[in-house]
Amino acid sequence: EPVESFDYVIFGATGDLTMRKLLPALYRRFAEGQITADSRIVGTARSPLDDETYRERARKALGEHVRADELIDATVNRFLRLVHYVSLNGAESTGNWDGLKTLLESNASADRVRVFYLATAPDLYGEIARNVSEQGLRSDTSRIVLEKPIGTDLDTARKVNENVGRYFPENSIFRIDHYLGKEAVQNIIALRFANPMLERMWDRESIDYVQITAAETVGLEGRGGYYDGSGALRDMIQNHLLQVLTVVAMERPESLDADALRDEKVRVLTSLKPLDRNNLRANVARGQYVQGTAGGKAVPAYREELPGETESNTETFVALKAEIDNDRWQGVPFYLRSGKRMPEKVTEVVVQFRAGEPGLFGEARPGSRLVIRVQPNESVTLPLFVKHPGNSFGLDEVDALSKLGQPERIRYRDSYEGLMLDAVKGSPALFVRKDETEAAWKWVTPILEGWSQDETGPDSYEAGTWGPESARELLQQAGHVWVEDIAA
Ligand code: NAP
Repeated sequence: EPVESFDYVIFGATGDLTMRKLLPALYRRFAEGQITADSRIVGTARSPLDDETYRERARKALGEHVRADELIDATVNRFLRLVHYVSLNGAESTGNWDGLKTLLESNASADRVRVFYLATAPDLYGEIARNVSEQGLRSDTSRIVLEKPIGTDLDTARKVNENVGRYFPENSIFRIDHYLGKEAVQNIIALRFANPMLERMWDRESIDYVQITAAETVGLEGRGGYYDGSGALRDMIQNHLLQVLTVVAMERPESLDADALRDEKVRVLTSLKPLDRNNLRANVARGQYVQGTAGGKAVPAYREELPGETESNTETFVALKAEIDNDRWQGVPFYLRSGKRMPEKVTEVVVQFRAGEPGLFGEARPGSRLVIRVQPNESVTLPLFVKHPGNSFGLDEVDALSKLGQPERIRYRDSYEGLMLDAVKGSPALFVRKDETEAAWKWVTPILEGWSQDETGPDSYEAGTWGPESARELLQQAGHVWVEDIAA
């Protein structure tokens, strides 16, 4: 059924994110009947466009980013009637704020939900929040959605939180981490706490180690300027992978309420053992790709892809060992890694259970491995050994869990769909609270500091491989291996 009528105001409405993700997500929810025809989507950016020109851009974006079988002309036309555009520099108090205000106040009750979605450069967030508030646009039913990145380190993250927090109460601030919008990540919570068998085994007694991987096959894709100032640690680990880690590791929350969940998640982050910036190599491997292959084709090195082929120490790969200092997880490493130009595009969580005793069936039984595949083709697999049919005690390995990836299970094609409507509903459970962002930044700070003082820079790895040798060595110390090496 539809969510209540709303006005969605997008700052940065001519940008890549809006065109590629936000408008397609809203369109799909509209096509599914979840968005009422009197709701409005108001794009703002500095470019001087009128409604019609902006609608044509939006139409083109939908054409490019929505699957052809979901694009129905009549539906697109009805959707575009919701769309408006106001030319405005959100970061400045002068400009057409009156126009925006008049639009929002026309044909809408005072308690209508307003969502302000900030899809501009993050250094504008504070100013936009201030202007929205000082121009009288914020109401009690307003929320503000912040895209990543929230800052580039602990100090800047605190500043963003402080600046936005001056004008919006924390319970109306929705920090997006689109990994939390992914079905398979939410499913970890169900798997863990709806299956007493797994719940009882979810600790150091039974689990040997955990691996969380987010690998991309692509290189820079022309976003070199942005990426080179960020790197894999800031772009992927601080936010997405640490968020996945919290869901895998948290204690049972009292309820599924937003704050009960987030209280437990933040407890995991604050229980992470601090890393020693003077001895980072014990816990962290960083890499940068050199020439190699992707999809069978030769591809250039990272540095060659940068504008002007500059020298750069930015990491395109990070692998690290995180340890959680609590009773449940003492001694269980959580290996996190993310990289560009990997052999495969895959995001998955591997929970490696401990090996058995040698005995009945010969040598020690290898431990079972629960694999939660987030993308592509989400699935959960748990191979178990069963007896091979016939009059011997030979063993077969079978998958004991059915796959999740049947199309009828997937309501949302993209994680933004659910999240954008959660902001309308005012359900922050799948958004990142202020203390979570800050705890995550705090934990990665020694890595940033250590690297900035280490002139040797990242280790090289060939494009199309699983990262530098140092990533393997990180696990070898403990007799562990990355999942692709087990499979090989
Ligand atoms: P982008 O393509 O550069 O778009 C930036 C948008 O902001 C444009 O619409 C631009 O339009 C507008 N803008 C710039 N300065 C402005 C100002 N002073 N006042 C009002 N509007 C202004 O950037 P993007 O890739 O869409 O990314 C936007 C945000 O999302 C960034 O924080 C980024 O880190 C984050 N993000 C992006 C992606 C992605 O896939 N692209 C993914 C995750 C997070 P005008 O020039 O017309 O003003």
